[in-house]
Amino acid sequence: MDIRSLEPFWVLQNSFITSYPSLTEDITTSVVIIGAGITGALIAHTLIEAGYDVTLVDKRDVCHGSTAASTAMLQYEVDVPLYTLIDKVGITNAVTSYKQCDVAIDTLEAIVSEINSNCDFRKKESVLFTTEKKEVPSLRKEYEARCNHGFEVSWLDKNAIQGLGVHNGQAGIKSTAGAVINPYIFAQDLLLYAVKKGLKVFDKTEIKDRNQKGDNMVLTTRTGNVIKTSHVIHCTGYESVETLPKDTVTLISTYAIASEVFADLPSPFKNMILWDTADPYHYYRGTEDGRIIMGGGDTPFKNAKARDSLLAKKEKQLVKTFQKTFPAIPFIKDYSWAGTFGETKDGLPYMGKPDPNRNEHYILGFGGNGITFSVMGRDVIIPSIEGRPHPFLEYYKFDR
Ligand SMILES: Cc1cc2nc3c(=O)[nH]c(=O)nc-3n(C[C@H](O)[C@H](O)[C@H](O)COP(=O)(O)OP(=O)(O)OC[C@H]3O[C@@H](n4cnc5c(N)ncnc54)[C@H](O)[C@@H]3O)c2cc1C
Repeated sequence: MDIRSLEPFWVLQNSFITSYPSLTEDITTSVVIIGAGITGALIAHTLIEAGYDVTLVDKRDVCHGSTAASTAMLQYEVDVPLYTLIDKVGITNAVTSYKQCDVAIDTLEAIVSEINSNCDFRKKESVLFTTEKKEVPSLRKEYEARCNHGFEVSWLDKNAIQGLGVHNGQAGIKSTAGAVINPYIFAQDLLLYAVKKGLKVFDKTEIKDRNQKGDNMVLTTRTGNVIKTSHVIHCTGYESVETLPKDTVTLISTYAIASEVFADLPSPFKNMILWDTADPYHYYRGTEDGRIIMGGGDTPFKNAKARDSLLAKKEKQLVKTFQKTFPAIPFIKDYSWAGTFGETKDGLPYMGKPDPNRNEHYILGFGGNGITFSVMGRDVIIPSIEGRPHPFLEYYKFDR
């Protein structure tokens, strides 16, 4: 097969799992979640377990936003290196953010087990490497920062990193904490689980208008139906730019390729996820059916058409980079796709209320670590609704 598609790999592989109705009447509900990707599913699950009356709406079919495009490498390493993050946001915030991303991987594993999801969640070692000699001192600085703050890491020298098959590898940092998942199956399974516990889901239901009326919010859909609710939670991913101040997030187009199935998945892709220090970086993982997925080629987002028109060029560049980096592994491209994600000024997410006077909350797991940030969003959503403090509501607030 050789598919270049505007549909991501996970969707083609798994097709449509469940279809929900669209909203065709006016309703009243305690909480509305806008956005049924992995974030909306995680938040819905948390609120349903806590006994809230929750309705989830999505303008597309569920899980067809960036969740379906994600390469879904789960890492505690934020896009911004720890030593740089410390300079940007201080030791407590930076170290807590790294540590809590680590905790989020275990939390995700526990949820997978609770809902019995067949989403190929697997723990992996995570390797950050460089093929550039000049990058070694800053990689070493990062290694020392992680050691100093209690992270379990080991230093891979030139021999060790080249021993993993990285041609021209100069050095690397290996962490024990990492994982992969099929994000599309997981989010779909989580929604089904929450629906059994009382969650109401409406797909193909776009929220066009939101008004604060006294203590409540009134939402209007594209087709004119009205939803009255006490709280609105935006889990709208990169499309949140439509409802937020301009400088909150920078949108990036990113590209991914999946190889044909290997009879025996080459080492190191069996037990490791890998990424490099290039700018923009490249990231690599294996799948349970024996493929290698690689992502990268990031470029500023203009619009979906412009993003998708670059796919042919970007897939060629990615294959070329793969062959340069792992020359002993023949990469035959089977699929390629494009996606969008958001980048923030400090690599950290946004959570909570941008406007204290409105009952609107956001859980925005931006960046290459979007999924672990979304898991962390579970911890703050109830404090945010109940108006209670939480450290993440301070670290990840909008006016920081
Ligand atoms: C190619 C690629 C690779 C990535 N790799 C990784 C990775 O390795 N690890 C990682 O952690 N993260 C990765 N990410 C980021 C990660 O995928 C995202 O952070 C995550 O999927 C965001 O999920 P979400 O549910 O917040 O957003 P989405 O999945 O985009 O869901 C938002 C939903 O909101 C809906 N919506 C928007 N506006 C409205 C409206 N007005 N009314 C109704 N519905 C609306 C949309 O239809 C959409 O379904 C990657 C992203 C891409 C694109």
